[in-house]
Amino acid sequence: MQLIYEKSVSGRKGVMLPASDIPVAADLPQNLLRSESAALPELSETDLVRHFTNLSHLNFSVDTNFYPLGSCTMKYNAKILENSASLFSGLHPVTALLPGGAEYCQGALGLLYDLSQMLADITGMDEVSTHPLAGAHGEMTGMLLVAAYHKAKGNRRKYVVVPDSSHGTNPASAAMAGYEIITIPTAPYGDMDLDLFRQAMNNEVAAVMMTCPNTLGLFNPHIKEIADIAHSYDALMYYDGANLNAIMGKVRPGDLGFDLVHLNLHKTFGTPHGGGGPGAGPVGVKMCLIPFLPVPRIIHDESSGNLRVQTDSPLSIGHIANFFGNFGVMVKAYTYIITLGRDGLIQASEQAVLNANYIKERLAPWYDLPYQQTCMHEVVFSASRQLKYGVHAIDIAKFLIDKGYHPPTVYFPLNVKEAIMIEPTETESKATLDAFIEAMIEAAVLAEKDPDSFKSMPVTTVVSRLDETRAARDRVVCHVV
Ligand SMILES: *Cc1c(COP(=O)(O)O)cnc(C)c1O
Repeated sequence: MQLIYEKSVSGRKGVMLPASDIPVAADLPQNLLRSESAALPELSETDLVRHFTNLSHLNFSVDTNFYPLGSCTMKYNAKILENSASLFSGLHPVTALLPGGAEYCQGALGLLYDLSQMLADITGMDEVSTHPLAGAHGEMTGMLLVAAYHKAKGNRRKYVVVPDSSHGTNPASAAMAGYEIITIPTAPYGDMDLDLFRQAMNNEVAAVMMTCPNTLGLFNPHIKEIADIAHSYDALMYYDGANLNAIMGKVRPGDLGFDLVHLNLHKTFGTPHGGGGPGAGPVGVKMCLIPFLPVPRIIHDESSGNLRVQTDSPLSIGHIANFFGNFGVMVKAYTYIITLGRDGLIQASEQAVLNANYIKERLAPWYDLPYQQTCMHEVVFSASRQLKYGVHAIDIAKFLIDKGYHPPTVYFPLNVKEAIMIEPTETESKATLDAFIEAMIEAAVLAEKDPDSFKSMPVTTVVSRLDETRAARDRVVCHVV
């Protein structure tokens, strides 16, 4: 495929503009003026449209095929959610913040307020702030809330406890909020080692960050005990809610003893993701943390029945995002929740867990399963058996690309050697799962029979097997002819 610069033809134009009637500024300093024209591609409108349309066809997405990327919840997102988000496109984002402006956008404020209440209900929290713009941003907001809590109580805290299976953003967020990390290894039973956790706890621990189910797809049966131990030191329990898709409507983090939680609306609640597009990582808190929530906050005025915007709050951690977060993502989450309803959310979680266990059972004869117990919404295999023939997890990932699948997550979680982490989600049919399982079995058989054939995969893509070491060392980011 040619680059847009390679398609450029000198003098070709997409748009003919009339001569400018604005006088040329005569007094600009010479050193600021261009000596040559900018090196832009010259194309007709047709060339341009074809170029980008063809590029867009190279994109892989949930709308084109199965995308079992573990820890990412790449579910199909119904188009009705996009329609509802577009309903608000006429509303100027600063309306609510102008003097008297709240009166003109009670509908939008009401949506945010109702969504916060629904998310609080789903997570068992007392209040939810919609501001954070992604999961990691929610974690950092959460860690700032933790710091504000301890500061207000006069507690001197230095550490945040994180299990070694956690998503890399957990220790990173805690470090950005100024904490040092204590990492607890995973026990052979697949959860954070309880004895080592007990030994690590002390009066300088600010919070314990947990993902439940964890990134091995396992629900920790000791979670209440862990929360009790943390609370006995006045350490707060932080719930990384990126895996909520496994437990929506079944279990509430608040009931398990967690004090604050972030959700990934772009994983669980109806927003497509994966290209760095807008996300949302709302943070829910128990009563003791409400005074520290970010501003502005939406307050329900009992006397008038209206919603108003509160911009000052003495103990607040302050302003962390504009416009109450990515509003379009909120509209989609709101639509998702009211469309599915309570029973629908429960059914989605149950189906997600069933699908993962179906894959687990059918692939268990072919791939090593480091943790054998019933999984939640995702299952982690290891390619260690295939490695004996010289075939790595990455080779199996490349094989799957040729079969038309987005590969599962590989080499994460870090505590599983040659990890292959599969998350099918609830939106896939049994026929799709079966076809994927057959492809995985074919890879396992080929690994034994002809391991060398993996070396050149993928072969059906525009760019075939990359030399990843060279790509990292010898980067050519932009190729201009
Ligand atoms: C995706 C994910 C995150 C980070 O969320 P982003 O929205 O990508 O910042 C954190 N924790 C876990 C377990 C995740 O899967």
